[in-house]
Amino acid sequence: MSADFPLGIEIRDRQFARCVLANAPLEELASGFRWTEGPVWLGDANCLLFQDLPRNRTMRWTEEAGVTVFRYPSKYANGQTRDRQGRLIVCSHHGRCLYRTEYDGQITTLVTHHAGKRLNAPNDVVVKSDGTIWFTDPLYGISNDYEGGRQQSEQPPGLYRYDPETGEIRLMADDFDGPNGLAFSPDERRLYVAETGNPADDEPRRHIRVFDVSADGAHLSGGEVFHRIEPGYCDGLRVDEAGRIWSSAGDGVHCLDPSGRLLGKCLVPHVVSNVEFGGVAKNRLFITASQRLYAIYLNVRGAEWP
Ligand code: MG
Repeated sequence: MSADFPLGIEIRDRQFARCVLANAPLEELASGFRWTEGPVWLGDANCLLFQDLPRNRTMRWTEEAGVTVFRYPSKYANGQTRDRQGRLIVCSHHGRCLYRTEYDGQITTLVTHHAGKRLNAPNDVVVKSDGTIWFTDPLYGISNDYEGGRQQSEQPPGLYRYDPETGEIRLMADDFDGPNGLAFSPDERRLYVAETGNPADDEPRRHIRVFDVSADGAHLSGGEVFHRIEPGYCDGLRVDEAGRIWSSAGDGVHCLDPSGRLLGKCLVPHVVSNVEFGGVAKNRLFITASQRLYAIYLNVRGAEWP
């Protein structure tokens, strides 16, 4: 069934054959990093930003110039996104905070504490159409010296909603062992949250959970396991225009339908950490994978937000 597609395209459901292109193989764009993460597409600058996390650098890739350093030091930055005003919102392991780049280049620290205690190490972030900033706060970034420095945790891992207008930070869910990447469905009625557990455990959690978002965006319900990733983990994920989920995994990128069914895979030779739709048509999937940056053109576009 995959015979007409490039090597590395694995079709599990006929629907996936319409999501990929017969003449668009996986491309390696750059290599030589320590660990890539946090891809975000900046359409107005026609570039991708991503992290070389343990090297404390945010990198920039453009088609014409390749890779350059965008920011050093990055405060061991991880996941990043843009708010509704287009400003860059970044998770910092070492700073144990979210920070925002203003239009003049100044850096504003947005949030550092919850209930009077320091955050652990914000990992990944999305912005909802109402301007609220949703992020995960596991312990990974403060549990060792490689990705930000070993520090004491002051509270359990959590999923938070931060309102930059009021400064309110609200714990939305706390029953996680390693909350990680997250993404809203196109209608924002669902929130997908990856849970990556502790890789040192015999049976670490390695699944995506799904929550229902209340109409006012103030509450979550549900939270059941949506899909178990095999092999590897869902570290980061994005949603396309049809509500399909594109998740990182140990063998590449997995595409799931909104019921949690695996539709197909784009195999990648190195462990994938995160993905991002980019390009003018938002039909190019950028893939951060171990020491490399990849991309593949798809026959789908990233989701448009309300
Ligand atoms: Mg992550």
